[in-house]
Amino acid sequence: MSNDKIESVSPHVLPALPYADNALDPVISANTIGFHFGKHHKGYVDNLNKLVAGTEFVHLPLVKIITETAGKADKTAIFNNAAQAWNHTFYWRSMSPKGGGEPALLLKQKIEASFGTLDACKKELATAAMAQFGSGWAWLVLDGDKLKVVKTGNADVPITTGMKPLLTIDVWEHAYYLDYQNRRADYVNAVLDKLINWAFAAENLG
Ligand code: MN
Repeated sequence: MSNDKIESVSPHVLPALPYADNALDPVISANTIGFHFGKHHKGYVDNLNKLVAGTEFVHLPLVKIITETAGKADKTAIFNNAAQAWNHTFYWRSMSPKGGGEPALLLKQKIEASFGTLDACKKELATAAMAQFGSGWAWLVLDGDKLKVVKTGNADVPITTGMKPLLTIDVWEHAYYLDYQNRRADYVNAVLDKLINWAFAAENLG
């Protein structure tokens, strides 16, 4: 399921995880996945279905709901739940039990053209993840023909500002607190070293 395929219509469903709930252990435990996927992500999808019922958004696909409600003060609840439904499906796919290591050549060249080295790109992602005050996300995106690292707060997602997400890291406390307590940096660095799914990023680049 690439970037363009994270799409659904009402009633929106919770897409299955692309691996077993213990597949990311020990970086992310099955206990964390149980709450994060089974309660938080499911909650966003369930809330979205309740919120769009009987509204003009009920027949719209997920991405359209996100772009149509972004920045509209009276549609915040729908935006938050729709964006979080999308963000989490994207996040699960941004990691793989076989992740980490080096990207394939084309993506690697693109990373080197934008950041100098792969390590510099990972460092910028880690810095963005740490610098996000409170809840939010760190993203590797394609902006025009350049790769960039951006961070967003709460449910915000770069698709509303014309950028194409390639990878994301969830830095809401629910993503790491059971395993790392307050040590966000340890969670972020472990994800970047051991789980980050460069193959998914390369697929999204295409
Ligand atoms: Mn989350």
